[in-house]
Amino acid sequence: MMPPHCYVCGLDPHSAGPGPLGERFVLVYFADPRPAPEGWTGHPSNAVWFCVEHAALGTTRESLPTATALREIDATIGRGSAS
Ligand SMILES: [Zn+2]
Repeated sequence: MMPPHCYVCGLDPHSAGPGPLGERFVLVYFADPRPAPEGWTGHPSNAVWFCVEHAALGTTRESLPTATALREIDATIGRGSAS
């Protein structure tokens, strides 16, 4: 399992400071039709970390495939589309 690292802001446990990780990070599983099996990283390809501040961006898109959800999130936060 990859350590928590917010997809949106890049927050990680080190910069988040002390406290239970479960109260600071949320692992969102997106609805890939055929999620890749857990690979050598031990982290499913459809599982993405968010900090609690940005968790809603992920959880509201749980019904989408990972690529679609992340593209939408990038557009929502104004990232990725700019050249
Ligand atoms: Zn975040």
